[in-house]
Amino acid sequence: MSILVVGSVALDHVETPFGSADGVVGGSAIFFAAAASMLTPVQVVGVVGSDYPMDRLRFLEEQEVDLSGVEIVEGDSFRWKGCYGHDPNDRTTIWTQLGVFEQFKPRLPDHFRDARTVFLGNIDPVLQLDVLEQVRLPKLVVCDTMNFWIDGNREALLEVIGRVHILMVNDAEARQLADESNLLKAARWIQAQGPEWVVVKKGEHGAVLFGSASVFFVPGYPIEEVCDPTGAGDAFAGGFLGYLDWSGSRSRDDFRRAMVYGSALGSYAVEAFSVDRLKNLTPDQVMERIRQFHEITAFELEVGAVRNG
Ligand code: AMP
Repeated sequence: MSILVVGSVALDHVETPFGSADGVVGGSAIFFAAAASMLTPVQVVGVVGSDYPMDRLRFLEEQEVDLSGVEIVEGDSFRWKGCYGHDPNDRTTIWTQLGVFEQFKPRLPDHFRDARTVFLGNIDPVLQLDVLEQVRLPKLVVCDTMNFWIDGNREALLEVIGRVHILMVNDAEARQLADESNLLKAARWIQAQGPEWVVVKKGEHGAVLFGSASVFFVPGYPIEEVCDPTGAGDAFAGGFLGYLDWSGSRSRDDFRRAMVYGSALGSYAVEAFSVDRLKNLTPDQVMERIRQFHEITAFELEVGAVRNG
């Protein structure tokens, strides 16, 4: 098994109350691949300019990430600058320089077309549709999006949503997409458009999984020092989908476990700038955090405490 991911491959400039990083490796496809490859092989489709330091992606290849779908085009790489205040959920985009990403046209190498699991990262929904046309028989397709596309290309986005099994968005995006302030109703509206499952990410507060008749919550892992929240959402997606691809199962229990793997990988992503923490992560450390999640969420039922219950 392996996962095909299409998304941005970027150079990020980030300012947080704890420091800054300039021109570091980033982008949705890279954070996703760094996290998912802890669990399963990954194939990346994206574009970079001739200025991109490809050697800084070498660590991914050592983890069975196939970068042959990353096109190198004459010109500047996509760059993004963002800053955070003390609330890690509060991010401001300072500027975006599209560079060669502006003309991005995903082209899947032939051996990527048999992908069974597909993650459509946050790109133009028209391009997400183009990728869906190129894969032959995907079994599990997940899509991410953002306010820019919800406003800017709603029609194409709804077409994508009608063709995916899982939509993964943050709470503001779910509300905006459904034009509904209640999150449960918003998720139900999204499910009516096609996806059987909706995952709503809530930053440091964790994430919620909406199934056909069930809801499951996973907390964010309590971390004392959040260094850089960039990429947490994509690392969450990587952990979540990496687990599902590895298990090959679609049971309710596997979806719930996938949520925990997502939150665990997302929590590691924020411990350092760029992919630095994910890069040095060991399988034992991932498992240790999964055990910690079990510890902080499990409780025994006690039915006698409520008077006259
Ligand atoms: P996340 O924090 O998980 O939402 O993802 C952050 C990553 O998304 C950063 O590494 C950015 O390079 C990338 N990014 C920011 N804006 C965009 C955009 N408009 N399109 C694609 N990727 C973006």
